[in-house]
Amino acid sequence: MAKKQYAVIGLGRFGTSIARRLHEAGQEVLGIDIDEESVENAEPFVTHAVVADSTEEKAITSLGIDNFDCVIVAIGDDIQSSILTAMLLKNLGIKKIIAKAIGKRHGQVLEAIGIHWIIYPERDMGERVANQLLSPNMLNYIELSKDYNIEEIILPPKMEGKNLRELNIRAKFNVSVIAILRNGEIIISPSPEELLQKDDILVTIGNRNDLAKFSRIE
Ligand code: ADP
Repeated sequence: MAKKQYAVIGLGRFGTSIARRLHEAGQEVLGIDIDEESVENAEPFVTHAVVADSTEEKAITSLGIDNFDCVIVAIGDDIQSSILTAMLLKNLGIKKIIAKAIGKRHGQVLEAIGIHWIIYPERDMGERVANQLLSPNMLNYIELSKDYNIEEIILPPKMEGKNLRELNIRAKFNVSVIAILRNGEIIISPSPEELLQKDDILVTIGNRNDLAKFSRIE
């Protein structure tokens, strides 16, 4: 992946987690916080860390933020600062802005400003935990729409050694297997004759309820 420039504004738990992961992946990350201690704590996890008030246009522009590929507004509790910062970034013409919202109304304002991607960490994490409880064999998922998901599901042991044709997963569960992850390799559009093996992960697409049923097979 080509190196990109990210700026994370607000180095609380959420912002620092994002910054740290991007930095670990070799990306260039500028961390910004109004609070000196937060900046010091985040220093090991970012390329540069600076103390600045992101609601001050001059402070932000002097950091050259308008040249960044992506800016993440990770200010939470201080809704006013979050909104002012998001507006400022939008006016500067930043291509990609991601913002954390702590509630519905906060999110609605960010949406009205035209923020590209709004994250509700508590709500989203709660949903993830519930989904994980409902589908214990599910490792990961992407929400395609309200009703449809792509999910990575651990192969149920009783399907080991069988091929997709005899298992007839599409007809029996209304779920399509679009790929198989095996020993770090990916088999795209597997043939119906493909023999499934222990520890295979099925990449499946379907209705959420059908997928939940499929992932509960013992
Ligand atoms: P979390 O729940 O992820 O820990 P917080 O809301 O506690 O999130 O932290 C957000 C961070 O944003 C804090 O470190 C705070 O100092 C910082 N912050 C708040 N307002 C501004 C601002 N105007 N400019 C820069 N950073 C800010």
